[in-house]
Amino acid sequence: MRKLDRSWQERRHLQAKLIKVTLLLEKKYGIPRRRRPGNLLKILIETILSQHTNDQNRDRAYRGLKKQFPHWGDLLEGNTKKVVSAIREGGLAEQKARRIREILHWIKKREGKLSLSFLRKMDSDEIQATIGPLKGIGPKTIHCLLLFGLGREAFPVDTHILRVGKRLGFILEGMEADAAHAWMTPLVPKKKSLSLHLNLIRFGRSICKAKNPSCDLCFLRRQCLRSDQDGSSLQVKQREVNI
Ligand code: SF4
Repeated sequence: MRKLDRSWQERRHLQAKLIKVTLLLEKKYGIPRRRRPGNLLKILIETILSQHTNDQNRDRAYRGLKKQFPHWGDLLEGNTKKVVSAIREGGLAEQKARRIREILHWIKKREGKLSLSFLRKMDSDEIQATIGPLKGIGPKTIHCLLLFGLGREAFPVDTHILRVGKRLGFILEGMEADAAHAWMTPLVPKKKSLSLHLNLIRFGRSICKAKNPSCDLCFLRRQCLRSDQDGSSLQVKQREVNI
């Protein structure tokens, strides 16, 4: 019973901390506006291309893909080699090209056309059960589709969020990104998933960088587990830099 009380209290503590972090980020960066729901297939392919690479390489790979294959249907023709060369700049090109083609074939077979609009009629659990088992679709892809494509409450965890979350203490040290999705979803303040997601990424890119974070400029210093709390200095150990 005592153990249950403690974990409940810890969860409440993390929820309160996330509310504070969300408000401080919004005060600094504003409240991001929700755009119109995006094209689901585009989001899916972009998220696959983003695996194990940075945003610049993902965008290069996506541009290369669209240049070679202006229509998604073109990707189903021919063999995988041309797709590999089109997305090479994004890394892991052979694996990603194979997965993209396999997923598109699966959609075409299921729906008779290349569209993910059938997901709009499903609740989030059904979406997870339907596309989650496909190779190349992990928690981040599903959460991106839910958040950006369907305007639902979901929380994709990318490399910036994982790193910042561990430093601020709302993601457990040693937790992998895949597990962090299920961990974070109930902790994120209601209706703030988009705001917290986008603002944390902005914060991670500009201030709480992987190497040499700008702790002296940090407005979340008081929330940080690594901070000495008086705001003067901070030691980020080498092992933490490699998150
Ligand atoms: S004090 Fe430094 S390590 Fe901590 S959140 Fe701010 S920038 Fe990141």
